[in-house]
Amino acid sequence: MALSSQHKKSLAKTAESRILPLAASAPLLSDNLFRWYADKGRHLAWRARWPELTPAYHVFLSELMLQQTVVATVVPYFLRFCKRWPDIHALARAPLDDVLIEWAGLGYYARARNLHKAAQLISSEYDGIFPDDYETLQTLPGIGPYTAGAIAAIAFDKPAIVIDGNIERVLMRLMGLKVQVAEVKSVLRTAYAQIIPTTNRSDFPQALMDIGASICLPKNPRCADCPLKAQCRADKDGMAADIPVKPVKIAKPVRTGAVYILTAPDGLVMMYRRPQRGLLGGMLSFPSAGWDKSALAAPQIEGLEDIVWQKSQRVIRHVFTHFTAEMSVYSAAAQPSFMPPEPYDWHRPIADDWPRLMAKCFLDISS
Ligand code: SF4
Repeated sequence: MALSSQHKKSLAKTAESRILPLAASAPLLSDNLFRWYADKGRHLAWRARWPELTPAYHVFLSELMLQQTVVATVVPYFLRFCKRWPDIHALARAPLDDVLIEWAGLGYYARARNLHKAAQLISSEYDGIFPDDYETLQTLPGIGPYTAGAIAAIAFDKPAIVIDGNIERVLMRLMGLKVQVAEVKSVLRTAYAQIIPTTNRSDFPQALMDIGASICLPKNPRCADCPLKAQCRADKDGMAADIPVKPVKIAKPVRTGAVYILTAPDGLVMMYRRPQRGLLGGMLSFPSAGWDKSALAAPQIEGLEDIVWQKSQRVIRHVFTHFTAEMSVYSAAAQPSFMPPEPYDWHRPIADDWPRLMAKCFLDISS
C-alpha cells in the first residue's frame, strides 16, 4: 500500500531522531559486540579474525554463494570451489561448464555465471588483485552495493556499509523502528555509517550478522542473552518481536508446463544445454513446454513426433524467484536406433548436476 506523504514525513522524522542516540552509544556498542564475537561468534570456513583479514577471493566466493542461500548449504560448496580453484586466476581459467556443474544445487545460476565473468575480469584487467574500493568493486559482474561493501570491509578493513537481512533487523530493533524494512532502507545506511568503529571494521559487520543469526532472531529474539541489550530501544519498549513489520505477501504466479524424459536402452537420457542467458542459463534440460516461453514441447520437435509418451500421475512443483512452476512429467523409452535431433544429445542421468526442477522430474519417473 502506498504511504501518504504526511506518513512518510513523520516516519522519516522519527527514524532520523533515532540515529543520534544510536550513534552516541556506538563506542559502547562496538565494545560489547566485539567482546561477544570473540567468545560466541561463528567460526566459518572463509572467516579470519581481525587483525588478520579474510582474503578478498574468499569473501567474494562466499558472499556470491550466500546471496539467496543459507550458510550451512554454502560451506561445502565454498570448500569444494577453493580446493578445485584455489585462487582467482584458477577460477578465471576454468571452463564455465565446470563452474556451473560445481555450482549445481545452489540454484540462481546467474550468480555462477557472474562469479566466473568477474573472476576473468579481475584476473585479466586487475592482474588478479581485487580492487579495494567500494565504487570500483561495483563495476564487476554480480557485485552490487552489499557485496562491494562486504569485500571492502571484510577483506580490506575499509569503513564500508554492509547491511544484509540480519543486520537490517538488528539495526531496526536497536533504533526501535516498528515499520517495514523497505520504508527505512536509506535511514539504515545512514545509521550504519555512524556506528562503524575506527578499528576492526572487518569483524564489525560479521559480528552484527552473527547477532542477527543467533541472538536477534526474527521470531523469538533472545534479548536476555544479547550483548547489545543496553543500547536497544526495541527491548526497552518491549516490541522486539514486532520489528520489522512484515510486508503483506503477494502470491507468486503459477506457470504450468510439461517435461519430456526420453531414456535410451543403455539408461542415458536425452537433454540439451539451455542458452547462456535467461532462466537456468547454460544448464542441462529435458525438452519442456509451457512454463518457459523459450522451451519447446517434445511432440513439436522434429524427429520426436512419433514417440508415445506416458504421463506421470504426479505434478512436480518448483518455486523460482518470480513464479512457481507446476510440471506434468512425460516419459518414454527410445528405440535402439533412435538418434536425438539437434540440439539434443544423450547424457548420463546424474541428477546432482542438474537444475533442481529437472532433477525433481527425473526422480519422479525413476521412483
Ligand atoms: S536486545 Fe533484543 S531486540 Fe535488541 S538487538 Fe538484542 S536481541 Fe535484538
